Amino acid sequence: MSTVNDRVVVVGAGVSGLAVARELAPDHDVIVLDKGGVAADTSSRASGMISLSLEPFPDEWASFALSQFRDLDGQGIFSFTERETVRLVPEANVDLYTDQAPDGGEFLTRSELERRFPDSFGDLSAYGGGLVYDGTGSLDALDYAMTLKWAAEQAGAAIFRDHEVTDLRVEGGTVTGVETEYGCLDADHVVYATGWKTRDLLAEYVDIPARPLRWNAVVIEPDEPLPAVCPMGSEPTLRVYWRLTDRGNVLVGGNEHLLSDPDGTPMGVQPSFRERVVEDVAPLLSGVAAGRIRREDCCPTADCASPDGLPVIDAPTEGPEGLVIVTGLHGRGVMLSPVTGRAVRSLVTSETPPFPMAQFRLDRFEDRSADFDYRSHWGPGDDSAVP
Ligand SMILES: Cc1cc2nc3c(=O)[nH]c(=O)nc-3n(C[C@H](O)[C@H](O)[C@H](O)COP(=O)(O)OP(=O)(O)OC[C@H]3O[C@@H](n4cnc5c(N)ncnc54)[C@H](O)[C@@H]3O)c2cc1C
Repeated sequence: MSTVNDRVVVVGAGVSGLAVARELAPDHDVIVLDKGGVAADTSSRASGMISLSLEPFPDEWASFALSQFRDLDGQGIFSFTERETVRLVPEANVDLYTDQAPDGGEFLTRSELERRFPDSFGDLSAYGGGLVYDGTGSLDALDYAMTLKWAAEQAGAAIFRDHEVTDLRVEGGTVTGVETEYGCLDADHVVYATGWKTRDLLAEYVDIPARPLRWNAVVIEPDEPLPAVCPMGSEPTLRVYWRLTDRGNVLVGGNEHLLSDPDGTPMGVQPSFRERVVEDVAPLLSGVAAGRIRREDCCPTADCASPDGLPVIDAPTEGPEGLVIVTGLHGRGVMLSPVTGRAVRSLVTSETPPFPMAQFRLDRFEDRSADFDYRSHWGPGDDSAVP
């Protein structure tokens, strides 16, 4: 089915909506509408960890996304810094990994880690070593979003802020456009990339199991700059990750949990998270314990959890023809955004995507209730929400 020159309205100018616009703009009439600004909701808060090789994703998703980040590096204001990632392994768990490291990782003992990444670590005495992964890196999420916007606009997309979409317009079971606070806009296809709010915005048309999900992040300026070899990393028992920023600071994030009231959530991080970072995480890296916190943030408007931790990117069969939804990015929306963009393109054009898409289908969930338990990415036995 050729859809060239069809009009596609994309609702939401976060990284998902912008990646969709970039994919479709070269041969479609693409209009992106956001009720706020570009990436102003969750996307600009993202830590920019691109750790696809550690995630429970098909290899094709990881290789496609990574190749897109590499291609985009140097375009617009975007840069992608490739860096190895270390997942620290507590002393008690070392036996699990000495023979075989999961997902293509390499197990190094504590002393091997310290030799491989000199002057990077602080007190690792509680750890027997770490799993080292390549094919990982980081980016500045706002620069990335602005570069997607720039690339989409270069290809002809029109992107509007302060345009709230109030409803979908449907006639005879087919999408005909959207209603906005300023009036109606015709469209052949409408893509909702509005995070967990997609659930409520489309409640009349399709049931979506999605819940708001909050993350915390702080940026610490170390006492002494960390060496360029310092890896990104994570500590699964504390459920935190870290990465170096372009300014040589250390961003520490984590402590994600479901939110019942995103509108009533303060902007700052939870005090318990800040304390944990200062007491337990900062000492793991050289010179960071003596550093100073320079930024604290969470996402009060919230990321979006799904019941199985994977996104929903689908043209649901029970919804009107021409409707595509992107939601449930579950803390991985930036790293998956190239996949999201191409997946939506394939749904709009019927082209075959270079990766499997069955995992994105909404009908994988029999129960569409939003009353599901949180499924953490941190591994088995750790599926509970942190209060
Ligand atoms: C602290 C933190 C750290 C994170 N770290 C990482 C990371 O390291 N790596 C990673 O891959 N992911 C990370 N994430 C997750 C990532 O930020 C999200 O998964 C991703 O930004 C989701 O993008 P999105 O475009 O789907 O949604 P959003 O960015 O939430 O965009 C949705 C847009 O829809 C708009 N909208 C909503 N309703 C309407 C309406 N009615 N009309 C018009 N517009 C509307 C909103 O204004 C918003 O701009 C992190 C998130 C946080 C908060």
